[in-house]
Amino acid sequence: MKVHFLGTAAFEGIPSLFCQCLTCKQARERGGKNRRSRTSVMFDHDLKVDFPPDTLMHSFQYGLDMNSVKDLLITHSHSDHLYAEDMAIRAKGYAQSGEEAMHVYGHDLPFRLIFQALNGLEHNYKFHRVIPFQPVQTQTATIVPLLADHDSLETCLLYAIEKNGKTVLYGNDSGWFPDETWAWLKDKQFDLVILECTTGRVGHRNNHMNVDAVLETKTWMDEVGALKPGAKVFVTHFSHNAGLLHEDLVDIFGPHGIEVAYDGLIVEL
Ligand SMILES: [Zn+2]
Ligand SMILES: [Zn+2]
Ligand SMILES: [Zn+2]
Repeated sequence: MKVHFLGTAAFEGIPSLFCQCLTCKQARERGGKNRRSRTSVMFDHDLKVDFPPDTLMHSFQYGLDMNSVKDLLITHSHSDHLYAEDMAIRAKGYAQSGEEAMHVYGHDLPFRLIFQALNGLEHNYKFHRVIPFQPVQTQTATIVPLLADHDSLETCLLYAIEKNGKTVLYGNDSGWFPDETWAWLKDKQFDLVILECTTGRVGHRNNHMNVDAVLETKTWMDEVGALKPGAKVFVTHFSHNAGLLHEDLVDIFGPHGIEVAYDGLIVEL
C-alpha cells in the first residue's frame, strides 16, 4: 500500500501566514521539509483522510486527480481537517465528476458543515455517519472509528484502517487517547502508526499530543506488541508554536524509532 503524506502541519501551516517567530523565519529560509501545509494523507489514490484548505494545492503539487478518491474519512470539523466550502466544488455546476459517488465517512458536525456548504446543490457524495468502535466496510478498506480527546464540544475521531492486508492507525488530532481507545488498541497490531505531535515540549497532553505523549505511546505499543515486525511509526501535524524545525524533530524522535513525516513523503507498506 502506498501512503502519501500530502500535508503535515497543524492549522497555522509552517511557515505560518503572517508569523515572525524564529521557527517560521528559519522555515522560510530553509524551505524543503520545513515547509508544511495542512494535514492530510492519501492511501493508494483512492482513500483519503481529511479535506484541508490546501487540497487544491495538493492536487497541483503532487499531480493528483482527486476524483480518484472513492472513500474520504473525516476526523473532525476543524478547518485544517475539513474545509467544507471546497466540498461543493465537486457538485453539479462546478464539476463534471462522473457517475461514481465519493463516499464520505464522519460524525455529526463535519456532515452538518458539508451539508451547509452544499446548500441544496445536486451532488454525488454518499454520506456515512460512523459510530465510534463500530467497524465499517468501505469501498476500499475496513475502518474502525476510534475516540480522540481533542475537542470537548465534538466527537473527534481517529481511524484504524485495514487496506490490502495492511493495518494503519491514523491518530490525529488525538490528544492523549481516551481509555476506551487504549482498551480497543490493546490486542491490535499495526504496520503503520501515524501520531500527532502538534505542541512539542509543552507540559500538557489534552487536545493534542506533546513529545512525551508520543514517546509514551510508542513505548506502550512496543510493550503490548501493537507493532508488527517492521512496523513504522510516524509523527505529523506540527505547529510552528512548538518551535521545532524538521531537523529538531528528527533529533528528538529518531533515537526512539519514530520517523518524522514531511509534505510529499511517500511510504510503501
Ligand atoms: Zn488539526
Ligand atoms: Zn511562527
Ligand atoms: Zn483539530
